[in-house]
Amino acid sequence: MKKILIVGGGIAGIAIARLIQHKGHHIKLIEKQAAWQTSGTGLYLPSNGLVALDKMGLGDIARQKGHCINARHIMSPKGKMILDLDLEKIWNRKKPCLGIHRKILHDILLDSLDNVITSFDTTINTLTHNQQFTEIEFSDGTTEKFDLIIGADGLYSKTRELIFGKTPLRKVTSQVCRFIIKKPLHIDSWSLYVGSSGQFLIIPISNDQAYCYVNRKTKGFKTFNTSVYMKPFKKFTSPIPEILDEWNPETSYWDDLEELPPLPSMGKNRIVLIGDAAHGMPPFMAQGGALALEDAVVLSKLLDTQNWDDITSRFSEERANRINWTRIRNQKREKLSKLPFWIAKIGLKKVGEKNWTEDYKPLSDPPNW
Ligand SMILES: Cc1cc2nc3c(=O)[nH]c(=O)nc-3n(C[C@H](O)[C@H](O)[C@H](O)COP(=O)(O)OP(=O)(O)OC[C@H]3O[C@@H](n4cnc5c(N)ncnc54)[C@H](O)[C@@H]3O)c2cc1C
Repeated sequence: MKKILIVGGGIAGIAIARLIQHKGHHIKLIEKQAAWQTSGTGLYLPSNGLVALDKMGLGDIARQKGHCINARHIMSPKGKMILDLDLEKIWNRKKPCLGIHRKILHDILLDSLDNVITSFDTTINTLTHNQQFTEIEFSDGTTEKFDLIIGADGLYSKTRELIFGKTPLRKVTSQVCRFIIKKPLHIDSWSLYVGSSGQFLIIPISNDQAYCYVNRKTKGFKTFNTSVYMKPFKKFTSPIPEILDEWNPETSYWDDLEELPPLPSMGKNRIVLIGDAAHGMPPFMAQGGALALEDAVVLSKLLDTQNWDDITSRFSEERANRINWTRIRNQKREKLSKLPFWIAKIGLKKVGEKNWTEDYKPLSDPPNW
């Protein structure tokens, strides 16, 4: 029986725990928070993420509990359509994408996780590794040896730092605001209202809830007082002023966006990094959740082989193409998002559909799993 430690219980950590829990290993998962996530905002899961959930047998329940998204609408502040993207055409499948509450997705992944020892309020202090095993000192001072460590501890991964040293993140944008609202009746698609002052995105995540993601344009990394952040969006078309009448800055989530530069590989010896710990990127293509789920499915397949000595290089090789592609295309989307509105509008009208189709095309075929 091999011993596996999973560090971090986010999408990536819970997904891999679930996939390998009945394969005859002894699995321990540590999470630095005191309990499983009880709140959070929404998540847009592009089709490759939903295909990964299908592979795990969870696609149908996610579709039932979330909101299937078949179109992306990009509109002017007055609500005039700039680009209407048919996602069934882009992904070449029915009901291709999903909006879902993060907590609901976590609960779906956690359901029937019954063969994993979980320790909350726990992290790792040190890690000593060689080809055969890795010895961990936990935050409570105890030590234990493992055959494999899976670092699923997110963008600020301690596991990554312990094997590669500090990797400075690239700051991309400051002050993105996210919150959940009652779903406006007529919003059934991914609906982006964009103007010179910024972007206001509404994504349905269930029959009665939607998720808003707002990014106010600034010079450099200037931040606003939260009480005035939404001011320009109050002039946008309905339903935005009505949404903002009810909005509370204090219950919203405020984030800076950052990117992890490419790593030499997705781990070292028998320490594998998955999800944001390996390839955290800002959500211009909204691929973070999808890639984390794909990582888990691909790694789970590789762990079916007996010899794990070269597990990190095999995993890195399997994942390299999709992750590099996504990083490059995501950076391109980041540049486009910073263009003056009038230029972006012309570009979206002329080549928006072509660009979007190209961006997602290589991801529409599943990975080798
Ligand atoms: C503003 C914003 C919007 C986004 N929107 C989308 C979207 O619409 N669609 C999408 O797919 N992606 C989106 N993403 C990206 C997505 O959130 C991440 O890619 C995804 O959550 C990665 O999952 P993960 O499990 O790898 O990491 P995380 O979700 O960060 O989970 C890591 C877990 O590890 C725990 N942990 C951390 N450090 C330690 C430690 N030292 N010891 C033990 N436990 C630890 C954390 O508490 C956490 O539970 C967005 C990101 C941001 C910032």
